[in-house]
Amino acid sequence: SREVQLAARPVGAPRDSDFNLVDLTLAAPAAGQIQVRNLYLTVDPYMRGRMNDTRSYAAPFAIGETMTGGAVGVVTHSEDASVPVGAHVLHDQGWRTHANIDARRVKVLPGLPGVPLSAYLGVLGMPGLTAYAGLLRVAEFRAGDVVFVSGAAGAVGSAVGQIARLKGASRVIGSAGSADKVRHLVDDLRFDAAFNYKGGPVAEGLKAAAPDGIDVYFDNVGGEHLEAAISAMRPHGRAAICGMISMYNATEPTPAPRNLVQVIGKQLTLRGFLVGPHYDLFDTFAQEVGGWIASGELKFDETVVEGIDGTPAAFMGLLQGQNTGKMIVKL
Ligand code: NDP
Repeated sequence: SREVQLAARPVGAPRDSDFNLVDLTLAAPAAGQIQVRNLYLTVDPYMRGRMNDTRSYAAPFAIGETMTGGAVGVVTHSEDASVPVGAHVLHDQGWRTHANIDARRVKVLPGLPGVPLSAYLGVLGMPGLTAYAGLLRVAEFRAGDVVFVSGAAGAVGSAVGQIARLKGASRVIGSAGSADKVRHLVDDLRFDAAFNYKGGPVAEGLKAAAPDGIDVYFDNVGGEHLEAAISAMRPHGRAAICGMISMYNATEPTPAPRNLVQVIGKQLTLRGFLVGPHYDLFDTFAQEVGGWIASGELKFDETVVEGIDGTPAAFMGLLQGQNTGKMIVKL
């Protein structure tokens, strides 16, 4: 198995020298295990936090250990009758080409026509459920709401905006980091408005896109975006605080929104959440979003990097916005 190990803890943005590629010999799988050849790996923003030596909601990676993350693979050897050779499985032994895994810890994937296996790492997997649960449950979305989502061209954000439209939002606004992404949001994903946050102050972009304010803010970015959203929120506005990617490489504590006092007068709800406790929604989510994918009403994009050796670059590229939709590594 060729694997990516954490070589050093990044200071600021991760660099090539923070990763090591190593070749290991895999033993035969033990009783109750399967051997998997990975087909697709996911790189996700939360992995940046796991590279630090601080405990957050996921334990830190150890130096010199193979990193872990979501992956889809094909079973090449089975020592467990419940998972046959040839099955496609979702599991957490990513960042490597092959793995032995306890059969009980994998999910056998259905083969759905028109749905690539990589979708189970994106729109039909953890990021898609994050969008669905965050918008509908955490932000308590209601038909007629004006919804603003940051990181809108990414895996989570692009699903949030489209789910909001399909559930009857009166207006959907997105922000992203390039003119091409902004065009894509409006032309392909049918957002009502979008702006490039690198083109000027976020508050100005948001004001132009939502002159009458917003009811729901889905935060993927934090910082200046959160501050602008608080100012734009109408009374009783609700924010699902999903991620703050603008801060993940920070080496100093970052300032709080300077206008936080507005949560009182406008009676706002800012609610942080993790996707983990929302897996009870998974079947409902998969059925509804799967239906929209099949009917063509919800689109998803992938940016695909080829080969295990490209995995660190895919991860670093994700943090720099090189992806439209889900960043995927194809082996
Ligand atoms: P994305 O596919 O959205 O990729 C990350 C994107 O972040 C990049 O494409 C880039 O797009 C944008 N970005 C990077 N730096 C900045 C910055 N300084 N300011 C604004 N945007 C930036 O990733 P995901 O969809 O997987 O994740 C989106 C967010 O959701 C992340 O914050 C992540 O941590 C969070 N998350 C939280 C979960 C939870 O359980 N709470 C679960 C899953 C994800 P651009 O070109 O627009 O800058």
